[in-house]
Amino acid sequence: MQKILLYFILSFLSFSISQAQKPVTPSSSEVFESIQKLNFLGSVLYIAAHPDDENTRLISYMSNHVKARTAYLSLTRGDGGQNLIGPEIRELLGVIRTQELLAARGVDGGEQLFTRANDFGYSKDPEETLAIWNKEAVLSDVVLAIRKFKPDIVINRFDHRTPGTTHGHHTSSAMLSFEAFDLANDKSAFPDLLKQASVWQPKRLFFNTNSWFYRSQEDFDKANKNNKLSFDIGVYYPLKGMSNNELASLASSQHLCQGFGRLSQRGTQKEYLEFLKGDALTNNDNIFEGIDTSWNRVKGGKAIGDILYAVENNFNFKNPSTHIPQLMEAYKLLQNIEDEHWKTQKTKELKSIIEMCAGLYLEASAEAQTSTPNQSIKVNIEALNRSTQSVIIETIKQGDEQTISKNLELKNNDSEKFETTYFISNNEAYTSPYWLNKKGTLGMYKVENRELIGLPETPKNVVIDFNLKINNVPITISKPVVYRYSKPDKGELYRPFEIIPEASAKISEKVIIFSNDKQRDINVIVRAGRDNLEGFVEINHPKDWNVSPEKQKVNIVHKGEEQMVTFTIIPPKNQSEGYINPVVHVDDKAYTKELIEINYEHIPFQTVLLPSESKIVRLDIKKKGENIAYIAGAGDVVPESLQQIGYNVLTLNPDAINAETLSRFDAVVVGIRAYNVVENLEFKQQILFDFVANGGNMVVQYNTSRGLNINNMAPYPLKLSSDRVTDENAEVRFLNPTHPILNYPNKITLKDFEGWTQERGLYFPNSWDAKYTPILSMNDKNESPKDGSLLVAKHGKGYYIYTGLSFFREFPEGVSGAYRLFANMLSIGKEDLKPASKLNN
Ligand SMILES: [Zn+2]
Repeated sequence: MQKILLYFILSFLSFSISQAQKPVTPSSSEVFESIQKLNFLGSVLYIAAHPDDENTRLISYMSNHVKARTAYLSLTRGDGGQNLIGPEIRELLGVIRTQELLAARGVDGGEQLFTRANDFGYSKDPEETLAIWNKEAVLSDVVLAIRKFKPDIVINRFDHRTPGTTHGHHTSSAMLSFEAFDLANDKSAFPDLLKQASVWQPKRLFFNTNSWFYRSQEDFDKANKNNKLSFDIGVYYPLKGMSNNELASLASSQHLCQGFGRLSQRGTQKEYLEFLKGDALTNNDNIFEGIDTSWNRVKGGKAIGDILYAVENNFNFKNPSTHIPQLMEAYKLLQNIEDEHWKTQKTKELKSIIEMCAGLYLEASAEAQTSTPNQSIKVNIEALNRSTQSVIIETIKQGDEQTISKNLELKNNDSEKFETTYFISNNEAYTSPYWLNKKGTLGMYKVENRELIGLPETPKNVVIDFNLKINNVPITISKPVVYRYSKPDKGELYRPFEIIPEASAKISEKVIIFSNDKQRDINVIVRAGRDNLEGFVEINHPKDWNVSPEKQKVNIVHKGEEQMVTFTIIPPKNQSEGYINPVVHVDDKAYTKELIEINYEHIPFQTVLLPSESKIVRLDIKKKGENIAYIAGAGDVVPESLQQIGYNVLTLNPDAINAETLSRFDAVVVGIRAYNVVENLEFKQQILFDFVANGGNMVVQYNTSRGLNINNMAPYPLKLSSDRVTDENAEVRFLNPTHPILNYPNKITLKDFEGWTQERGLYFPNSWDAKYTPILSMNDKNESPKDGSLLVAKHGKGYYIYTGLSFFREFPEGVSGAYRLFANMLSIGKEDLKPASKLNN
C-alpha cells in the first residue's frame, strides 16, 4: 500500500522518478522555477560517505529555495549495507543504491557525484578506513569533484574533529573534504587532474551540525549557536504545493533498500551550519556573502542577465513559448562567453528551458530493449513542436558518423514520426556500471577511463542528436535512445536501451563445497544476446581440479533465450580451493561475463555485467551427527552451507518446536538476530534447553542487545555488548587450546582463521556466567582483548554455544576454516555417536 501511494505521489513530480527514462513533461511553474535557477549563479557541494547519509532537507532547501546548483558527493555507493527489498548484496546493492540516490536527487533537485571509494563494511575509525581505501586516490577524487563542480560553498555532513564517534567512513568523508578544500586550488596538488578541470577555491566550508552530534537534544538546545548559521528549512513552495521538508521526505524515502520509506514532515524546522574555514561571514544570514550570484559574475554575463531577468520578471505562465525569441537571443550571447565552466553549465540549463518552453517532444525509441555490437536496430523517432515558434530539424545524427538529412519544419502540434536504422559498431561498449568493469580492491573500485571518475553512472552511448534551428538559431538537442513499451496492467513503460554481449554465462551456485573427493555435476546457463547463437562452453579451473567434458556445444535460436549445459567437477584428494569460470566461445570471441538484471519500480531497470565465477572448495572436514534443525532469524545462508558439507538441515518454525520433533536432531542452529526478529521464540526456550540437557547441541549466532525480545536467551547468564572485531585479519589467540571444540573432530589451527572476509565478528558478550568457557580472544588495533566471540557451556548432557563470529559472512565466501570450526560446534560431545559416513563405507 505504502509503495503504491509513494508511486502515486511521485508521478506528480516532473522529474518522474519511477521511470527515470521517461521524457520530462514539465508544467509552466516548473519551467519558471528552472528559469529562476538559471538566473542564480552560485553552487553548493554537500559531502558525506554513504547513500542515505545526505541531509535531503538542506539539499532541497539549497536547490529549491536558494536556487543554487546543488550536488551531493557520496564517497561510496553503499555496497556494504543490507538490502531490505531483495537479494542483491555487495556490488549489486551499490548499483541499486546509486540509482536510489539519483532518484532522491530527481526529487530534491540536486545532482549526484561519487568517488572510487568502496563501502567495505563497518569501520570503527578513519585511520582504518583510510588505510583500506587508497587515501590519496579518494582525496584526489574529492579534489577532482571540487575542481569540476566548482562549488562556492562546501558542506560536510560529519565532523572531521571527532574520530571514533561514528562510522570511520563518515569521519573520513569530513577529513578528506577539509583537506581537499585547500588542495583544490593548489596547482601542485594532483597536477594530473588539471587536464580534466582547472583549480578552484571554494569560498567557505561548513559542518552541518545537529543534535545527533551532541549528547542530547537538550545539550544541543543549550549549545552556543552564535557561530552557527541557521535556516528554516520548512519553507513552503506554492509553485509545488509542497513544503521543503515534505519534498525532502520524499527524496530520502527513495532509499527503500535501506528501509527509509517514511512519513513526510511540514512546518518550521531549523538546520545549522558551523563555519569551518574560508572567508568568514560578517553576519550570519547569507552563506553566499561576498559572492556575486547574478549574471554579472561572468564576463559578458550582464547582457545575458538583462534578457533573462526580464523573462523571469514577466514570465508568461499561460504561454511560455512567447519567451523563445529572448531565450534564443540569450543562447547566442552565451555561446560567446569565455568562461568555459559557466558556458557549459548554463548552456545545458538554457537548452532544456528552450525545449520546455517550446513544448518540444523529441524521442528516439528502439524496437527492443537490448542489442549487441555489430548489429543494426530500428529506432522510432518522434518529433513535435507544440508552439507557434519556428522549429526546423536540419539533420539528425546517430553517434559520431551516421547522419540522416531531414530539413523538416516542425509545424505547431503536427507530430512527425519516422523510423531509422541505428548501426551499433563493433567496438561499442556494453551498458554496465563502469566502476564494476574491472576487479577492484576491498577499498577501491578500479576505473581505467579517468574521464568517468566521479560520474554517477555510465554515460548513455547510444544517442540521437537533433540538430535544430529555432527562430533561425542553430541548437542541438541530444536524446539517449530508450525502449518504450506498454503493459496492459501497468500502462506505458520506459527502460534504458542497452548494449549487451552476444553471450553470457552463469553458474547459479557461487560457492561449491566438496566435503570429500566425490565428483559433482554443475549447470552452466548460457544466455544469447542475439538470434542464432552458436558456439561452445568450456570451464577454466585450477590445475589440481578436473572438469569433464572439456567442451559443451551451445546453439540458441532466439535472442534472450537460455540453454543449460552440465559439467562434472572432480575435486583433488586434499584440501584446496580456487575459482571456476565458464567461458563461451562464439566465432573467435570469448565471453566471460554473467549478465544480471535488477528490476525495481522506484529505479530504472539495470543491467550489470560481472565476471562469471564460482568458488570451489575441497574441504578437509570431519563431522559427527547428521540432522540439524535450523531456526531462521534475520536471514543467513547457514542451512544451504551446512547441506553443502553433508548435513541434513530442516528449518523449523517456532510453532513446530517441541520435544518430540527435536528428538530427531543432533543439533539446533539459531539464525542471526533470531531473538531480535522472531517474536514467539521466547516461549520455546525451555524446550530448547531441555533438548540440550538431553544431549543435543545448540548453537546461537549473534543478536543485538538493543531490541532483544527475550530475557532467557541462554541457560546461564550472559550479557551482550557492542564489542566487535572489524579487522578480518585480526590476530586470533586460543584461550583454551585443549578444549574439544578446537580439537574434535577437526584440529583447529590458526590457519583456519586465514582468508576470513569483512570482519571476525560482532556484538560479542562482554560478561558471562562461570559455566561458560571462552575459547578465543581477539581485538582490533589499539583495543583491549575481546574474549566473548565463542562461549561454550556444558548443560546437562549437551552443549550450549553462543557465538558472535561472522559465520554468516564467511560461509557464502567459502572460507574453509569457518566450516571446520562450525562442524566442531555441531559435533562437540558426540564422540560416541557413530559417524554417519561410516554407514556408507
Ligand atoms: Zn553512513
